[in-house]
Amino acid sequence: MLLIKNADIYAPAPVGRGDILVAGGRIVRIEPGIRIPESYCESFDAARLIAVPGFIDGHVHMTGGGGEGGYATRTPELVLSDAIRGGVTTIVGCLGTDGVTRSLRALLAKARGLDEEGISTFIYTGYYAVPVRTLTGSIEQDLLLIDKVIGVGEIALSDHRSTQPTFDEFARIAAEARRGGILSGKAGVVNVHMGDGRRGLSLLRRILDETEIPATQFLPTHINRNPTLFQEGISYAKAGGLVDLTTSTVSAFLDKGEVQCSQGLRAMLEAGVDAAHITFTSDGQGSLPDFDEQGRLRRLGVGRVTSLFAGVRDAVLEKHVALATALQVITANPARILKLRGKGHLAAGADADIVLLEPETLEIQGVIAKGRWLMKDREVLVKGTFE
Ligand code: ZN
Repeated sequence: MLLIKNADIYAPAPVGRGDILVAGGRIVRIEPGIRIPESYCESFDAARLIAVPGFIDGHVHMTGGGGEGGYATRTPELVLSDAIRGGVTTIVGCLGTDGVTRSLRALLAKARGLDEEGISTFIYTGYYAVPVRTLTGSIEQDLLLIDKVIGVGEIALSDHRSTQPTFDEFARIAAEARRGGILSGKAGVVNVHMGDGRRGLSLLRRILDETEIPATQFLPTHINRNPTLFQEGISYAKAGGLVDLTTSTVSAFLDKGEVQCSQGLRAMLEAGVDAAHITFTSDGQGSLPDFDEQGRLRRLGVGRVTSLFAGVRDAVLEKHVALATALQVITANPARILKLRGKGHLAAGADADIVLLEPETLEIQGVIAKGRWLMKDREVLVKGTFE
C-alpha cells in the first residue's frame, strides 16, 4: 500500500487537499487525514505538490512510423522512459502510413511489452489504408476477440497519402467499428488522420448527415495542422463532433501555419467549443520532416510523447487556461471518448495512475502507474527492458 499525503488534488476537477490511498494497483480512498499504521504502508508527503491523473496519449506510433523519405527515414520504437518522463501512463498505439513493413502483430506485441514494463496500453487496428487490414479478418472481430483493440485507425482522409475511400467504404468502416464496439463494451472509435487537403472534414460531415452513426464514433486528429482545418474543426466541434490536436511539432510546421496546441485549446474555448469535445495526442514516434527554404530536407525529427503534457503545461502557464480544463484534454476526455475504464480520473476504484506536479512550474516530479512508482523526486526509476 502507498499513502500519498496532503496533495492538492485535481481529479481532474479540483477537489482540494487530501490523501490518496493506493492498494493493489488501484486507488481505494481519497479524503483528508487517512490514517494507516506505518508498518502496513509506504507514506509519501506531497504537501508541496499537485496530484493529477496519469496522462493518456491516444495516438502513438509505438513501433515507429515514418519512412516517407525512404527506408532510412523509418523512425524508431518508443522506449518506456519517454512515456514516464512525459507523465504518460496510458498509450493507444497505432500504425500510420506504412502498413507493409509495420504490422499489427508487431504493434500488439509492443503494446503487450510496454504493459509488462509498467504502463497501460491499447491499440487501433488498421492503418492509413482502406480496405482496412486487420488482425483477425475484420474490424468487428478484432474488437470482439482482441482485448487491446479499442477502435480502428488512423484512417487517412483529405490527404495525398490516403487511399481516397468513398462515402460507402468509410461508412462501412464506421458501422463495423460501432457494432464491434457495442458488442465488446469498447468505444469502437474511428481515429481519422486528417491531411491538408481542401476537402477537410467534408466526408465526416456527410457520414453524420446521411447515416445514423453518431459523432462520438469519430475522433479526427491533426485538426491543428493548418488554419483552415482548425477553423473547420471549431465548427465541427460546436456541432457536436470530437476533435484531437497534435502536440508534436517543429518550428517549420508552425512557421507554415500549424496552430500550436496550447494556442489552439485557448482559441477553441474562446470560440465556444465545449472543453469535453477536445483532446490532445502526441503523434509520438511519428516523423517530423524539417525542410529548409529551398524545400531540402534539413533533418528528420521524431514526435515525442513528452510533447503531450508540454502542450497542456504551456496552455496553463502561457495561455492562461485553467489547470482543470487543460488537464481534461489528456485525462478525463480521452478516458470517456475511448471508454478506458479506470483511467483519466483520481477517484476510489480508479487505477492508481498518478502524476505529481510542482505547483508553480508544473514540472513533473513523480509518476505512479498501476500503483508503482516509475518516477520519484524527478528521477526515472524504471527503464524499458533494453534501455
Ligand atoms: Zn496521422
